[in-house]
Amino acid sequence: MRLLLVEDEVEMARALTTVLVQHSHVVDHMTLIDHAREALRSKVHDAVILDRQLPDGDGLSLLREMRDAGDKTPVIVLTAHNAPDDRVGGLDDGADDYLGKPFLADELMARLRAVVRRSESYVSQVFSEGNVEIDLDHQELRVDGETVVLTRREMLVLQILVRRAGKTVLRGTLEEAVYGYDDEIQSNALDSHVSRLRKKLADAGASVTIHTVRGIGYLLRGE
Ligand code: CA
Repeated sequence: MRLLLVEDEVEMARALTTVLVQHSHVVDHMTLIDHAREALRSKVHDAVILDRQLPDGDGLSLLREMRDAGDKTPVIVLTAHNAPDDRVGGLDDGADDYLGKPFLADELMARLRAVVRRSESYVSQVFSEGNVEIDLDHQELRVDGETVVLTRREMLVLQILVRRAGKTVLRGTLEEAVYGYDDEIQSNALDSHVSRLRKKLADAGASVTIHTVRGIGYLLRGE
């Protein structure tokens, strides 16, 4: 999933990003409401993790703006303000969930899965094409039912190609999906992810292949 994390405390943000990335998510991290607003405009996120006390205001104001504009992206509000009244206010403003600091990483992950599952855009988290199956809940690739180990970025690339099987996916779309705002993109990094993916798919006997559409992108097709 692509997540927007809005948190100004450096240590907290770093710890959260580490956990989220370990769970194979792409994280766009912002410390200001202003920048978060921009990020929401330019990218589609599966969920937002939103702190309240931010240098340029209360995170709930961004949440209200989102809901007023009809943006239904799931939002989990994170905060030290954990008095019951605060929680009620956040939920009234359109938060999908509320988590008081400190919290356990596992609890945040479970709550994230829950809010995304409940969201309108949620569709089945298992995609398949030919004998290839991607289980997003477990971040697992299976070929003929056998698990194939992929790196986080290989998994992100493959899941987009499988979701759009038979259609060309632009390089830019793949790069955007695989890298967060803060990641440095090496010019041929995408090609190396794809070539390792091809080898893993071929070695596992997958019935799909990834074709290069020169100068444009990649396309996954059944044989
Ligand atoms: Ca804060």
